[in-house]
Order: sequence, then structure tokens, then C-alpha cells
Amino acid sequence: MAEFDFDLFTIGAGSGGVAASRRAASYGARVAICEGSRVGGTCVIRGCVPKKLLVYAAQFRDGFEDSCGYGWSHHAAAFDWGALIARKDAEIDRLNGLYIKMLETSGVRLFTGFGRIVDRHTVEVDGKRYTARNILIATGGWPTRLDIPGIEHTITSNEALDLKTLPHSIIIIGGGYIAVEFAGIFRGLGAEVTLMIRGDELLNGFDDDIRIALAQELRKRGITIVNRARPVKIEHGPGGCTVTDHLGREHSAGLVMSATGRRPNTSGLGLESVGITVNEAGAIPVDEWSRTSVDSIYAIGDVTDRMALTPIAIAEGRALAETLFNDTPSTISYDNVPTAVFSLPPLGTVGLTEAEARRRHAKVDIYKAGFRPMKHTLSGRDERVLMKLVVDGESQRVLGCHMMGMDAPEIVQALGIALNCGATKRDFDRTIALHPSTAEEFVLMREKVPDPTAKDL
Ligand code: NDP
Repeated sequence: MAEFDFDLFTIGAGSGGVAASRRAASYGARVAICEGSRVGGTCVIRGCVPKKLLVYAAQFRDGFEDSCGYGWSHHAAAFDWGALIARKDAEIDRLNGLYIKMLETSGVRLFTGFGRIVDRHTVEVDGKRYTARNILIATGGWPTRLDIPGIEHTITSNEALDLKTLPHSIIIIGGGYIAVEFAGIFRGLGAEVTLMIRGDELLNGFDDDIRIALAQELRKRGITIVNRARPVKIEHGPGGCTVTDHLGREHSAGLVMSATGRRPNTSGLGLESVGITVNEAGAIPVDEWSRTSVDSIYAIGDVTDRMALTPIAIAEGRALAETLFNDTPSTISYDNVPTAVFSLPPLGTVGLTEAEARRRHAKVDIYKAGFRPMKHTLSGRDERVLMKLVVDGESQRVLGCHMMGMDAPEIVQALGIALNCGATKRDFDRTIALHPSTAEEFVLMREKVPDPTAKDL
């Protein structure tokens, strides 16, 4: 009789939990996973996937408009939000079924219900207790909302994906990934959009040139950006909501969305029963092996305070399975992680921003290309592309690649490989351009931007 019911018990069947569980089972481990909501987690059910489907829907507006410059006659295009949401839901149902099937075929036992840790080797789901040599917490995160009067009148990204009707106007509080992506979706589908941010620019943490350029493009698309505005109260009336900011200014719209960040899901997990305490961000502290302060309990993905990105959760989960069940101790690198913002136009970025590079390196070379993409010569769209390389002035290693413009996420994914291989500016220069493309500019930049920190300028 085995000492434990399972070798691994995973709490949370999102991207990270499923990846860890399946990889562990592939090495012969006896694995169980529990899920209190829908299998697939944030990314599949209420994040990356449905969001991207809505982004595709919003992009058609550009396609219809741009086609006129290419000889197509004007379309009497009509959009049906209900039809889009129904088709999106059907796709999410399909993926949910696929994930359940994948767990089954991998030999992972699925329990429906929220998991609660009872002790260092026991998890309770729906009143039943199971023992496990190792417990993995992969419960993800949940949108947070400001603590101000009337905040209950706001939706979050969860509800934004399931609205019954498209609002005629929306105020989005926040200027991070989710705010900017939904601004593009709602604007593309026809709503008036206001982004309300507390700082000067959108997308803290991204390269400053890209942040400024994106704000310009969003404004050209008719999105209003109200900066240095802190909401203090929200009132709901017959026509929608009014947000009052700290200066007493009132901003009204049919709907208000909170996009002010996400918080790890730890409530009801029973962490106190094993003495795990969360940090100030509400996240579970772990070491490089994803181990918590209890040596039989691990945590991966958004419930920890590392990088809240699906591919990171998956990589952390697989590394853990390799360590525990394949005798191959594995950790992951958080350097050169490519990431995208599916705004309209989108952003792609990998490696260091200029500001980070200047903090870490004595000499930094910057190359930039800003231009109107070929497609818009005939379409007439007033939209520009910005590409930027951040290079270590001493070793000539490329430290960061940043792009705003069509296909930026697709292009930057591939550049991530070059950065991981330690590519230098010379390696970029000796790569033959693929012509005509937008991506070719990354291998054609010759002129350094004058160094603003140089003394003799
Ligand atoms: P972010 O952390 O990206 O952005 C939060 C935004 O809310 C920031 O603009 C922040 O302002 C603002 N904010 C925070 N607190 C307050 C406050 N008290 N008052 C006013 N504004 C406030 O969170 P998101 O919710 O957009 O996304 C969560 C995470 O999910 C992302 O960090 C990312 O890791 C992941 N994600 C990834 C995506 C992708 O890969 N494409 C897509 C969506 C999400 P400030 O900048 O001033 O701090």
C-alpha cells in the first residue's frame, strides 16, 4: 500500500497546473488535479485566448477601411456583438473540453471543486481528503479593483468578455496590459473609449519611446487618454456611470471597467494550516525551484510573484515536474522573455528597455527606426511603426528589441531566440534583410541615436 494517495496533487487546472501535472504523469507519477472553476484557467477561459479572439474581431475595422485604398469599394459592414460572443464561447467550450481530455489521456485524475490544504501532505476537495507526497499550488490570480465608493458598478476583464451588449462608451481605469488591450477591442468595435491613468504614460515598465508612440497611435484612433487622474468615486445613473477624479473632474460613460492589476488567488487555500505566509503583493513566496517555505508544497504561475505570463507558468510547471519526477533538476530563466501587448497597433518586446540598460551598463547604443509601413502607402492610414534596438556599447550584445506596429508580437518572438543566443549588433547587421517586410528594419539600422548622456554633445 502506497504511503500517499498521489505523488503530486495540483490545486488549480490553469495553464501552469495542467502543464506540470501532465509532465509529471508522463514520468509515471500518480497525479491528481482539482479545479473549482473551469479547466483551462485564466488564459483559456477568461484571458489570453478569448481576449485575442476579440482583438481579431476589432482588427477587421482596419481591414475594411484599409481595403478602400486597394480598390475595394466601400463595405456596408455591420457588426453583431452577440454573434461574436457566442462564437467565442463555443471556441472556449471546445478548448475547455480539449484540456479535460488531455488530462484524461495523460492519466491525471481530475477532481471538481476548490482545493484546501489541510496539512503538508493532505488536500481536501469537496469534503474528501487526499494525501500526496507533493502539493502544487497553481491557483492563478484574479482582477483587483480600487477601494473607492461605487467601485462595484465597474466590470473587470472577466465580465468584459461576456457582456450582453457592446457599450456605446467605456471608461477603462488603468493603463497596463489589460487596459490597453481592451481599449483597442472596444474602440475597434465602435465604442467611445477613455483610458484613465494615474501616471503620465501607459504601460509602466515598457520602453519609454514605445509607450509614447503607442499613446500617439491610440489617440489617432480616437481613444481619449486622461493622465494623472485618480478616481475617487463612481456613481451609477440611468445613462451609465460617472467617475469623479481627485481633482473633482467628472468623466461619464455607459460603462466603467477596472483594469488596475490582478492579485494572487490564495483565499480559502488553507495556507495558514501549514504556516505559509503571503508577501505584501498577496503572493506565495517561492525559491528558484518553486518551493514554498514548506518543503512538500510548491507554487507556480500567477499565485507567485514572478512574471504573470502564461508561458512562464507553463515553463515553471514543467521545470518542477522535471525536478521532482525525472531526476533532472530544472529552473527557468526570466531573462529575455518575449512579451506582447495586443493593442491596436500591437507591441512586442524582449530584453531590456533603454532605461534598464542604462542602469545596468556603462555604455549603451540605441538604434531606432520610425516609419509608415508600406501597407499604409495605399491604405492612407496615418499609422507609424517604431522599432528600437538596445545594444551594450562595450560588448555590442543586443540587450533589447522593442517594436510597435503590425505583426510586432510575431516578429519579436523570433528575435527572442537571437537574444538568448547572445547575438551582437554585428550579427543583426550581417543578416540579410527579408524584403519587402517590416521586420527587415531590425537588420538594417545603421545610425546610432546620439547618446543623451554623452558629455560632449
Ligand atoms: P498591470 O499591472 O499591467 O496594470 C495595472 C494598471 O493599473 C497600471 O496602469 C497601474 O498604474 C494601474 N493601477 C494600479 N493601481 C492603481 C491605483 N490604485 N489607482 C489607479 N491606477 C492603478 O495589470 P493588468 O491588470 O493590466 O494585467 C495583469 C497582468 O496580467 C500583467 O502584468 C501581465 O503580466 C498579465 N497580462 C499579460 C498579457 C499579455 O501577455 N498580452 C495580457 C493581459 C495581462 P501604474 O502603471 O501607475 O502602476
